[in-house]
Formats: sequence, C-alpha cells, structure tokens
Amino acid sequence: MHELSLAQGLVEQLRQTAEAEGATRVTSVTVVIGNYSGVEPDAFEFAFPFATEGTLVDGAELIIDLLPVSVECRQCKTTSHPEPINLVCMKCGSDDVVLQGGREFLIRSVEIDVP
Ligand SMILES: [Zn+2]
Repeated sequence: MHELSLAQGLVEQLRQTAEAEGATRVTSVTVVIGNYSGVEPDAFEFAFPFATEGTLVDGAELIIDLLPVSVECRQCKTTSHPEPINLVCMKCGSDDVVLQGGREFLIRSVEIDVP
C-alpha cells in the first residue's frame, strides 16, 4: 500500500524532529494532504497506526488538513477549485490553467513531549 510507505516516511521525519528536540514522545501531528497529491486520506489514516507502532510516534493524534485543488485560469485569470480528475477553469471552462495548489503532502505542525 502506497499510503503505508508514506506513513513510514512521515514517522521517520517525526522521529528525527522529535529526537533533535530531545522529545520522548510525539503527541500530535497535523498533516496537509492536497486533493491532487495522489494520497488517499482514509487510507493514510488507516496506515498511520501501523507505521507508528513501536516508535515514539505511537499513540499520537493524527489530524489531516485537506486542501482542494486550486488552479488559475490563463484566459480569465480566475482562481477556482475544480475536481482533481478534470482540471478546468470553473468560470469559463478553459483547460488553459496553472495548477497552484493541491499537490501538498507535508507536516504542518507537531506536538511533542519534552521531559
Ligand atoms: Zn477561466
């Protein structure tokens, strides 16, 4: 499962951050997932506990912030949020658009326990 390896990568990043801060435990993590990132939020949420098991992220609360796709139209200069499968301007219907957001997959914030 794609999301499991993503979750494992995330846990590794969290471990490094936590250890650099001298933390013993990660209590909460907020992850941003764009609607066009190819990451399935439900699958990611499901994979998270498997990836964290036995690490200092074990038991941490996972908060997922979903971001919609955002495109800017080169024709009418409007920014809109179309469906990820059909990237067109929602105002004039042009497909001459520039992707501005929605590919995000990143850590927004982390809460840790420092003894
Ligand atoms: Zn347009």
